[in-house]
Amino acid sequence: MIADNFGRPLTGLRISVTQRCNLNCIYCHKEGEGESQLEMEPEEIARIIKIATHFGVKKVKITGGEPLIRDDIVNIIDRLAKLDGIKDLSITTNATLLKEKAKELANAGLDRVNVSLDTLNPKIFSFITKSDFLNTVKEGIAEAIAQKMLVKINMVVMRGINDAEVSAMLEYAKNINATLQLIELLRTSSNQEFFDRYHNDMTQIEKILEIEATDVLTRRFMHNRLVYILDGVKAEIVRPMDNSEFCYHCTRMRITSDGKFKPCLMRNDNLIDFLTPMRAGATDDQLKELFRQAVMLREPFYKKPKE
Ligand code: SAM
Repeated sequence: MIADNFGRPLTGLRISVTQRCNLNCIYCHKEGEGESQLEMEPEEIARIIKIATHFGVKKVKITGGEPLIRDDIVNIIDRLAKLDGIKDLSITTNATLLKEKAKELANAGLDRVNVSLDTLNPKIFSFITKSDFLNTVKEGIAEAIAQKMLVKINMVVMRGINDAEVSAMLEYAKNINATLQLIELLRTSSNQEFFDRYHNDMTQIEKILEIEATDVLTRRFMHNRLVYILDGVKAEIVRPMDNSEFCYHCTRMRITSDGKFKPCLMRNDNLIDFLTPMRAGATDDQLKELFRQAVMLREPFYKKPKE
């Protein structure tokens, strides 16, 4: 296993496979990527993830853009699911294409999906996503469940938009046997005005969940996230903003859709390009060295105040 200069082990990768998306969500941070149309081939994705497994990476989350928009997404999943060392392979999707692809994805070895669904209200859904696919998304979720996949619902909680829907979303998650992830809106370098207007401090929601929970667990290797065990449903709070605890328990690195190691969502000044050398014939040892260099560039974005 490899650890960075802050003693944080690296166990997971979040890999973007495209920047293309069929929705246009008002809050989207686009995984912190710059604009690029370059995409890796399935064999290039599999090769770099295999390199990562040599360092002890066990978890891979596929993201985008919208990953299911890629015609070869099943091929990508198939290749990654076959890699020794990968114990947890999942995808984050808006689920608009999930109904038609869930069966093939499950057959290829995908057993977990995170679905972005911030509201059950059609008008609010249209406002957030600039689309009217709410029912399509729900059908996609139902199909994933029918294919025996574990489903997590990602809800970005925004003040005055969907913050009143937490109970309804918990009920929905309970009914479909999914976990609900309540995600704090992130401030990025380009959304200050939006953030100021809609950022919802999660403290109140945490307090209510604490009171109602029969148990509260901590995911130590996942940003120290809290998991609330409620009556028949699990809820997780993802609270990254100004949170040094979150950063000090970060165990993952990102890979951009155009083939760069990205040590932190919030930074673009320390990327390491591996796709150019890979396409120029780099050996596995050379790619491993680039991976090692990228891990050593990892540092907590929000640091603990000095004592
Ligand atoms: N299209 C896919 C989807 O909808 O899940 C994958 C890409 S999307 C950028 C991945 C996740 O990022 C979404 O679930 C959303 O919850 C989260 N996200 C995007 N922008 C965010 C922001 N400003 N703050 C917090 N979470 C955000």
